[in-house]
Amino acid sequence: MIVEKIEKDLKQIKKEVLECKKCSLYKERLKNKFYSVIGEGNHQANIVFVGEAPGLQEAKSGRPFCGAAGKILDELLESVKINREDVYITNILKDRPPGNRDPQLEEIKVCTPYLERQIEIIKPKIVCPLGRYSMKFLMEKFELEDHLKEISKIHGQSFKVDKFFHNFTIIPFYHPAVAAYNPNMRDVLKKDFKNLKTLLEKLLKEEKMGKEEWEAEKREMEDPFF
Ligand code: URA
Repeated sequence: MIVEKIEKDLKQIKKEVLECKKCSLYKERLKNKFYSVIGEGNHQANIVFVGEAPGLQEAKSGRPFCGAAGKILDELLESVKINREDVYITNILKDRPPGNRDPQLEEIKVCTPYLERQIEIIKPKIVCPLGRYSMKFLMEKFELEDHLKEISKIHGQSFKVDKFFHNFTIIPFYHPAVAAYNPNMRDVLKKDFKNLKTLLEKLLKEEKMGKEEWEAEKREMEDPFF
């Protein structure tokens, strides 16, 4: 039942994005016979990655992070033994900006309600902005602006969101594309992905312990001799 609701709600977002005319990017999509890139992966993922916008390969295929930056993301996931199929990957913009230019403020404003709903539906434990645009958007949206600094200062750090019925941790990362021609950045990203893996393991352990305590409590309550 819960799974069906998740599927239904995510399908609704897809429908709305395909019909969306709130900014001019849809015109580029139609003109070039591109696809919108809504998101891909596990619909009940513990981790949601949020990139900036589809590049050319992504717009041609409808899949996020399937080009050069995607190869680096795959390598980073592999380095900490996280399966790509177990996470959810999306972007702040669902259509490709022409010539891969940076997302514009107005585009971010009109497109990110889709992302907010994706996060609300999937309910991840960890949200990972990839790059400064998604970091800025997510940290401002979830009232972490006091902690917002340049990405070079806060990459790989954890920021707890406990507001508006949301309960997750944000860990900002450099955009994987920065590692394409810079091996040092690849090492920085790998180190930050280790932080992600450590946090994931901690949260899963806490969840398991919570469940076990609750089961033990229930057993005690049902015990007639208790
Ligand atoms: N860069 C992004 O930010 N997103 C993608 O999906 C691909 C490249």
